[in-house]
Amino acid sequence: MTKSTSRNIPLTSEEIRYFYDLLDESLTPYDCGKLCAPKNGGEPLCCSVENAVPMLYREEFAYLAKRTELWARWKPKTDVDKKMKKEDETKLLVFCECKGIAHCERENRSICCRTFPLEPYIDAQGKFIGLIFMKEFRGKCPLQTRLKDIKQSVVDKHFQFWTLLFEKKSDEYDLYKGTSRGWRISAAKTGQQLPILYPAAVSA
Ligand code: SF4
Ligand code: SF4
Repeated sequence: MTKSTSRNIPLTSEEIRYFYDLLDESLTPYDCGKLCAPKNGGEPLCCSVENAVPMLYREEFAYLAKRTELWARWKPKTDVDKKMKKEDETKLLVFCECKGIAHCERENRSICCRTFPLEPYIDAQGKFIGLIFMKEFRGKCPLQTRLKDIKQSVVDKHFQFWTLLFEKKSDEYDLYKGTSRGWRISAAKTGQQLPILYPAAVSA
């Protein structure tokens, strides 16, 4: 996909189930939560709402609400968080929180739980070419320095997922086009190499 057209088609329950299957494999051959938990009160960093507030597609939240009581809409407490909710929720995505790692239901993890800490990378020509480590979690998620540990099979499946998702939701393509550009600007300033992971068809 190289061009953005205005499109936001809701995901069907069948598609959500398919995506959950596609995104079921763990990123690394080991439990990466053990890397960050010791410095985060014994919990994986990305499973604490204080560190990362999950964003769910609105239809995904409705789908999960029928299956489980794991998820609720996020209730911000501070003024900063209230502002974030007001400004960052979109017609596609809502902030949510789960009951916490002690109550995690693997089959009911959200798409954002399953894709963290990777997001799509769209190059300067507007082509979706791979996955990139989320910039805002630099220095927080230890996988930043262990990208080689992320399984190629997972990169391939995530790439397939985003390819299919962009066909339905051009707003997401536009969002990641913007974040990818931000990554390039930041990397150009610091001389840092972009932490991109390519699907096998490209990296082979
Ligand atoms: S993805 Fe990163 S932050 Fe989340 S559990 Fe694994 S190492 Fe920790
Ligand atoms: S649902 Fe599970 S994986 Fe997702 S944030 Fe909650 S504890 Fe973490």
